[in-house]
Amino acid sequence: MKTVIERLRGDAPVFSVEFFPPRDDADEAVLWRSIRELEPYDPAYMSITYGAGGSNRDGTIRSIARVATETTLVPMAHLTAVNHSVAELRNVIGWYAAVGVRNILALRGDPPGDPYGEWVPHPQGLNYAEELVTLVRSLGDFCVGVSVFPYGHPRSVDLDTDTRYVVRKFKAGADFGIAQLFFEAEDFLRLRDRVAAAGCDAPLIPGIMPLTTPRTLRKTIELSGASCPRRLLDRLEPLEGDAKAFRAEGLDVVTELCERLLAEGVPDLHFYTFNRSKATREVVGRLGLVPARA
Ligand code: FAD
Repeated sequence: MKTVIERLRGDAPVFSVEFFPPRDDADEAVLWRSIRELEPYDPAYMSITYGAGGSNRDGTIRSIARVATETTLVPMAHLTAVNHSVAELRNVIGWYAAVGVRNILALRGDPPGDPYGEWVPHPQGLNYAEELVTLVRSLGDFCVGVSVFPYGHPRSVDLDTDTRYVVRKFKAGADFGIAQLFFEAEDFLRLRDRVAAAGCDAPLIPGIMPLTTPRTLRKTIELSGASCPRRLLDRLEPLEGDAKAFRAEGLDVVTELCERLLAEGVPDLHFYTFNRSKATREVVGRLGLVPARA
């Protein structure tokens, strides 16, 4: 099976999808319906997030194992250093390898409960994602991704410092970066320029949230760590009382963003799906990123 970085090296741009581990049987049914609906669209890889604070770790391992063994998809497992000793991290990485996962998104994670609270490392654990990249690399032939932040990580003092630490993650062995949500293509392209100017040519992948509801817009604003430009609010806010019109305009906004990013040569568009497939299928269909058989 190909690795993520191998799937990014094709002639044409690709798309990929992110899910979270199910919390109960009903969630599991929704997740697997979405996976089966997306499979014929041939995403370059699909990832499963790692519960905040290591919660639902078993759900991540179980789901990614099923993806590896029961689907044609390339699986990528997220992993965070929160609340884990190095011994526990080694154990999880060992599980990933045992179920056939060769791609890991190595993250520090946030303190449980309060993402902006003070970071307290596990006494036998790690402090930064960079160290997790080194650990994963030391344990096998993994393809490793890291997170990057178009507006800088919320705890970074400034963009230069942020960029310096991003580059260190690549020097530690990361193969590619996936970006946190952002609003304008230029915001992502400036991040790409900063990283390139620092001498790093690893592929950076934009993170995309299909804006189907006011809730997805609010989530995008919260996760991006930035304020939404007036231009976009003017397009979406007046439609908040009309679910159908909001969804149509929201998907137009996202499609336009993706078109601009593809024109700038991004290798992959990574969709945060909320475990649903319809909006992602619609957007990648409009962008022509879908194989004929789908
Ligand atoms: P780091 O790269 O370690 O950076 C954290 C902070 O420390 C930054 O301010 C950075 O500038 C600074 N820093 C980095 N290295 C050093 C150093 N050597 N010395 C001093 N300062 C340094 N969270 C989850 O819980 N589960 C998930 O599955 C998950 N998936 C994600 C997927 C994507 C694509 C993204 C963008 C985020 C995801 N997150 C997830 C959230 C992520 O864990 C948090 O945003 C976290 O706060 C940052 O993790 P990081 O790996 O970027 O940390």
